[in-house]
Amino acid sequence: MKLPWIIYKHIHNSLMETLVQQLLTDIRFQEGLKACISCGTCTAICPAAQVSDYDPRMLVEMVQTRNEEVLLELLSGDTIWRCGECLSCKTRCPRGNTPGYIIQALRALSIANGFFANSDQGRLQLEIKRSVGEHILKYGYCVHIDEIDTGKYPEQGPVWEWYRENRESILARLGANYNQEGAGTLRKISDRSLEDLQAIFNETGAMERFQQIESGTVKQAKDEK
Ligand code: SF4
Ligand code: SF4
Repeated sequence: MKLPWIIYKHIHNSLMETLVQQLLTDIRFQEGLKACISCGTCTAICPAAQVSDYDPRMLVEMVQTRNEEVLLELLSGDTIWRCGECLSCKTRCPRGNTPGYIIQALRALSIANGFFANSDQGRLQLEIKRSVGEHILKYGYCVHIDEIDTGKYPEQGPVWEWYRENRESILARLGANYNQEGAGTLRKISDRSLEDLQAIFNETGAMERFQQIESGTVKQAKDEK
């Protein structure tokens, strides 16, 4: 019998290194969690908590249990993708914790183990990788008007479509240097700079992360067939 991807990965990890063990080695986790007193200050300041059911205090409480099943639930769900990584929580925690760092460590762990593909929010990583991630490497910009698939964005898409159709005149009026050599907004980024960006992505593990997102998504799709 073919095991679902998530169960396979869980068994695999329990044979190798537990999720808790993996998390403990992450410097962002080590920096992010000293000891939480569950005061709720982070939740009070958190912008994501204002607009969703996301609750950093609860998240820290769950992680602090160091329970493998609790961690698996977090890594496979939507919660860890709701944080905006603004780090407002870092400035207010009376115990010097940073839930935003904990989130970064959890997201990396979720992607490395393929759990991200089990949740709706996690699956959006593929879209972000193929848009923002690949735009950076191709153009040097996170978002490039020439590449956006406007049909994917029901609200903002028509605005971008209009902007794209009229970009030459709009950008000229704004004093931009669109796709040209030299200085200025939206200038063409030099090949040398793009090569540097690629080297940074290679060295920092970003390319490996990209590959994990692609392969994790493919495996999840196969499991769902
Ligand atoms: S502010 Fe700090 S101590 Fe208070 S609940 Fe959040 S992480 Fe815990
Ligand atoms: S980093 Fe995340 S958890 Fe911290 S305040 Fe910002 S959105 Fe909330």
